[in-house]
Amino acid sequence: MSELIIGVLGLQGAVSEHIKQIEATHCKGIIVKKPEQLHDIDGLILPGGESTTMRKLIDRYGFLEPLKQFSLQQKPIFGTCAGMVLVAKDLTDSDDVHLKLMDVRVKRNAFGRQKESFEATLQIKGFESPYTAVFIRAPYIETAGDQVAVLATYENKIVAAKQDHILVSAFHPELTSDTRFMKLFVDMVKKSKEIAAY
Ligand code: GLN
Repeated sequence: MSELIIGVLGLQGAVSEHIKQIEATHCKGIIVKKPEQLHDIDGLILPGGESTTMRKLIDRYGFLEPLKQFSLQQKPIFGTCAGMVLVAKDLTDSDDVHLKLMDVRVKRNAFGRQKESFEATLQIKGFESPYTAVFIRAPYIETAGDQVAVLATYENKIVAAKQDHILVSAFHPELTSDTRFMKLFVDMVKKSKEIAAY
């Protein structure tokens, strides 16, 4: 199979850190700044940053429909932190929902002021040893539909999950040297490309 190409939506937020980690998993990482570039990639990361700002830029650069189309093709999407807010079907205390790709209700900035940013050791489904996760003004998933697989919780809150071709984490996998979470996504991208080529 040809090299996997993973795009990172490059409108705002933690873009270059993702590119580095994509390359650490031996895939090609490209920064997506124009909707046409979505045709060139096998999977897409919506990075952490500020979801309200990112949404404004999504609208300004005409990304809303192209992103929905990308998802309709069942191409894998990984939303980290603000990216998780962007893919949620519902947001707690807000009507301001965005892409509505995943059957979850997400609470923004959910861990409170004492925990603006912190590290936590998580047990992630399928991992043989604990994973140290970095949280920054993180959201969590308050409720999840039947089709959603919970991958990790922290203080009984859902902080990583998957539904079909959509993966989300409340934490920032690109800010650690542990590439295991990114590899979960790379595996999803690889499988989806194999199915598409079949
Ligand atoms: N709280 C931010 C938001 O809702 C997300 C923070 C982050 O991505 N680190 O957009």
